[in-house]
Amino acid sequence: MKIGPRPAGSPQLKQLASYLKARLPRGRFESVPGGLQNVVGEIPGKGKAIVLSAHYDTKDIPDFVGANDGAGGTAAVLEIARVMAKTKRPKNAPPIRFVLFDGEEATNDADFYGTGVRGSKAYANKHAKNIEKLVLVDFIADKDLSIPREESSDEEMWADLRAAAKRVGAQSVFPDESSGAVMDDHTPFLRKGIPSIDLIDFDFPCWHQPCDDLTAVSKESLNLSGEAVLDYMLTEWRSRA
Ligand SMILES: [Zn+2]
Repeated sequence: MKIGPRPAGSPQLKQLASYLKARLPRGRFESVPGGLQNVVGEIPGKGKAIVLSAHYDTKDIPDFVGANDGAGGTAAVLEIARVMAKTKRPKNAPPIRFVLFDGEEATNDADFYGTGVRGSKAYANKHAKNIEKLVLVDFIADKDLSIPREESSDEEMWADLRAAAKRVGAQSVFPDESSGAVMDDHTPFLRKGIPSIDLIDFDFPCWHQPCDDLTAVSKESLNLSGEAVLDYMLTEWRSRA
């Protein structure tokens, strides 16, 4: 599917939202103030939800398609949802939610947190009390992939993610290092006291440049990060049995 640039509020993003909704289990839209919408899927369960999330809008720059910054994470969420939806639900499993945020990039850069991350702020405000933890996948597909722990990310969850990566042979992608804290779609959840991690390889030369296209990403990278996150999610899902 080829949509091209798809900034928040554009008809192109609406077209993508419909595509995504149709491919998530129990897919639905949830409105975000200002005419935006998150796309949400769910596998029901008991207790508070474990959320897997990404943003699906792209930065409003001419010719910018965000293959890594937006599409990679969105693709991983879609595929992990597809696999989990056809996997037998474990006994006592918590609900799993797949949330694709709108308006992460809808920001004037002077006040990123105040003007951007719009879908995640709205989602955290509405649903925080029903969320146990959150995983955000952001820059996970670039060719030269290495994802250190983003410093505001929860340490225990990160250790569990690295263990999952080791089980699936993706440990090379998750070095035992950390990188500076960034504000991102996990920040509204951290501020509500919800343990959260952000998978973001900020060592990415095409960040917010037109070269963030299919030549900047690789199937191998997305496979390694995606398999690690899938194993993490399955392990959490099965841990209550
Ligand atoms: Zn971006």
